[in-house]
Amino acid sequence: MARAIIWLFDLDNTLHNASAHIFPHINRSMTDYLMQHLALEREQADALRSHYWKRYGATLLGLMRHHGTDPDHFLEHTHRFEHLAPLMVFDRALNHLLRRLPGRKIVFSNGPRRYARAVLGAMGIHRHFDDVFGIEQMHYHPKPGVQAYRALLREHRLVAQRCVLVEDSAENLRTAKRLGMKTVLVGSTLKQPAYVDVKIRSILELRRIAAHLPC
Ligand SMILES: [Mg+2]
Repeated sequence: MARAIIWLFDLDNTLHNASAHIFPHINRSMTDYLMQHLALEREQADALRSHYWKRYGATLLGLMRHHGTDPDHFLEHTHRFEHLAPLMVFDRALNHLLRRLPGRKIVFSNGPRRYARAVLGAMGIHRHFDDVFGIEQMHYHPKPGVQAYRALLREHRLVAQRCVLVEDSAENLRTAKRLGMKTVLVGSTLKQPAYVDVKIRSILELRRIAAHLPC
């Protein structure tokens, strides 16, 4: 009997190109937030934002730890888009790919859930996913921390061995592999670490490789 695959999809730079317009917007919003709430000049705010990002893997974690920032307030103010659609860069063939890809699909993103849903909506692909598991559902402990993965597995009663994580971040795949998941790295990097099962250049190659994943 064929066993169902559960696809876990990262969102930013996996399902769409966030680097083009979305990330610059979020980064600017975060710097503005730090300037306003920590009374910093732009240069200092920018430096602190990137320092926390490098040290903790997320600016939010540094703010929570060192400044008692309310995570929901921060996320609400830094992921606000009046007009998301013009900023989106993605492949329109994705809709067709997801429709034909067998197995359950869940979005597993370090972004806030509302933002992730808005992005999926702008791409017109939200209906393909059973759930959007965002940073709030991870109790603000983002990937690659193991807690995020455990929270997802628990919430959806999933066995790691049945899951395939599709990601642009190799670091996030390392944790997935340690837990027993299959791993697919998306992007143009030449390196393929041992914990990456399959490397593809574009998400659209997923259909071709889906049949060969050892699930
Ligand atoms: Mg990503």
